[in-house]
Amino acid sequence: MSVDPEETVAEAVAVRAGKILRVGSNEEIDALAKSSAKVIDLGGRTLLPGFVDSHEHVMRRGLMMDWVNCRSPPVETIQDIIDGLASKAAGKPEGEWVVGSWFDETKLSDGRWPTRYDLDEASDRHPIYLGRAGGHTAVANSLALEATGITKDTPQPEGGHIGMDESGEPTGRLDEIAAMNMVRGRIPQPDAEETVRLMVENWSTIEEMLLSWGITTVHEAHIKAPEALAYQELDRVGRMRTRVGLMLDGMAPYKGYATGDLARQGLRTGFGWSDRLYVIGVKIGVDGAMGSLTASLREPYANDPENYGINRVTQEELTRETVELHGAGNRACIHAIGDWAIDIALNAVEEAVDSAPREDHRHRIEHAGYVRPDQLERMARLGVAVSASIGFCHPIGDSHIAALGEDRLCGYYPMKSFQEHGIVAGGNSDGFGENWPITGIAGCVTRRSSGGEYLCREQAISVMDAIRAYTVNGAFLEGTEDEKGSLKPGKLADMVVLDRDILTVDPLDIVNTRVLMTVVGGEVVYERDS
Ligand SMILES: [Zn+2]
Repeated sequence: MSVDPEETVAEAVAVRAGKILRVGSNEEIDALAKSSAKVIDLGGRTLLPGFVDSHEHVMRRGLMMDWVNCRSPPVETIQDIIDGLASKAAGKPEGEWVVGSWFDETKLSDGRWPTRYDLDEASDRHPIYLGRAGGHTAVANSLALEATGITKDTPQPEGGHIGMDESGEPTGRLDEIAAMNMVRGRIPQPDAEETVRLMVENWSTIEEMLLSWGITTVHEAHIKAPEALAYQELDRVGRMRTRVGLMLDGMAPYKGYATGDLARQGLRTGFGWSDRLYVIGVKIGVDGAMGSLTASLREPYANDPENYGINRVTQEELTRETVELHGAGNRACIHAIGDWAIDIALNAVEEAVDSAPREDHRHRIEHAGYVRPDQLERMARLGVAVSASIGFCHPIGDSHIAALGEDRLCGYYPMKSFQEHGIVAGGNSDGFGENWPITGIAGCVTRRSSGGEYLCREQAISVMDAIRAYTVNGAFLEGTEDEKGSLKPGKLADMVVLDRDILTVDPLDIVNTRVLMTVVGGEVVYERDS
């Protein structure tokens, strides 16, 4: 499928010098192919443009290779987590830290949080830190608490919470960054040079994962200096196969670069080292995350009626940064999940656009997790594009139903409404789940969570439109829709081959689709062993 506006279904594609030469029937392309041409017979399988995933955090995964992945599935019980941590500890000298990640208590059959005592069973000779999915909560074992000096007498940190039982003893649970950092700050970190070295060393494993999911372009949300250095090194030695669009770190409240400095340095959107590595914008942000009830909402959380979430910046701060970026020719990529945060983001963009009118600025809202109808109108009027985390729908949609409640679900990543309002929306998973583009496409089409609940079926879009979100719309979000995102002569030859025809399979089967082959710039960079 070419994903052109006519929705052509082609049989064959000819490629030359990394670009698409021609799309047509088998006969047409056969006639074109010189005897020396490499011909790949796809046996009638579905060929699509390569996927553009518009918001992930990939490079820093290179620093997590030693972590124990406690994601569910496959993890089902606290005992599974204990077993995983125990086997990691067994391979480490006594006293060395063991770090686990991605657990989600809502998916454990135990129906409770793991405690320090559970983790003590994994090891009482290694300090253990176990992060929850979403990055806003963690659990530490007794040795880790001891190493940190957390006791029943420790005062609660500002902006965070140390879990205590009835007798006042710490349970090991740590809520929000302020509490988590008390323990996490004790884990020895590699220095800057070692950090870059580790990321460069582990890149091929991460890139292989991306390519196996058909991702030919990924937007790296929020990179700091070490990630940038690692990417530059990989590009320099020709090791970049996936294309990576960088959102520079402009999160001043999190000690990112001041947007004013970026503006002065003249590093503009579109600046690039090659067609594999380039700057697509600057990441700034407003609120937290929906699963951890820190995304900011105008009406409180359904499962926490006093809680409206957290805004990490003031309107004035965000407006100042957005105006500055806009004025300097940079694209603002604004993290805003709840509708309150989206109001703040739109106010900032409006001010920027008013200060210096510019057609087609393509400032982006990252995520846009709960959008009110009046905000859709405003997004359309301001020309704001959206990098929608519809990839959340399947893996963590259940926790979002609990957070938003039934009444607000039709504003949850409202892909249909975006389309109806002419708002260009790409898709992403922000690191959750796996097989990101396919899982996201399934979410767009079915609006079904892994728990079998539906998140407003009226917001479902067609399979073809879901594919667009993950191809040409993603390209639009970085300003390259003339170069990639569909199979058209002259465009980059970035393609994926799927194991089933997702246009005709049962929609509930889409999520099981696997990528068989991935091509970047005409080169086969991934092939699934079958
Ligand atoms: Zn993110």
